[in-house]
Amino acid sequence: MDPLVRIKRAILAGRYAFSEKARLEMEAVALQSLRIQTCPSCGSGRIRQVRRSWSGEFRGRRYTVPQLRFFECPACGKRAFDPEAMRRIESKSPAFAGARRVKKLA
Ligand SMILES: [Zn+2]
Repeated sequence: MDPLVRIKRAILAGRYAFSEKARLEMEAVALQSLRIQTCPSCGSGRIRQVRRSWSGEFRGRRYTVPQLRFFECPACGKRAFDPEAMRRIESKSPAFAGARRVKKLA
């Protein structure tokens, strides 16, 4: 199942604060610090920060986050997002649209 579907179900169940487990399921690692020097997945020291548009797809709907800054490991392909990058993805992804709507009504 698409990890984003699981996350959306968690949102709909009333858990607006995404658990650390849900974040880890997004094929990415949520970082609490910008000071990353080794890949959290494979330990490679070649992981580096990149800045480019991020494209994702949710239930056939594509979305783009322009000029997103995140870390990418050239050894294993792992991507890591800091909290600001996570916020930007969440603000663009249709997977989180329901949560935004609920929050506005609240
Ligand atoms: Zn790696």
